[in-house]
Amino acid sequence: MPRYDYRCRACDVTFEVNRPMAAANDPATCPAGHADTTKLLSTVAVTGAASASAPRPAGGGGGGGCCGGGCCG
Ligand SMILES: [Zn+2]
Repeated sequence: MPRYDYRCRACDVTFEVNRPMAAANDPATCPAGHADTTKLLSTVAVTGAASASAPRPAGGGGGGGCCGGGCCG
């Protein structure tokens, strides 16, 4: 079962919760009973999650076109 790290904003502590992936986005309650927690980046190896930022495609209107250089006039 994967382990998830959560941080309690009330007591400012980080705690771990073992739960199935289906419940990864469910709210977690800190050991002190606070419900105001936020999910941290998991320490479980998730392939591809860290390198999901794809580069933006170039172009999109203007600049570098053929007509800019006067070759099609
Ligand atoms: Zn707490």
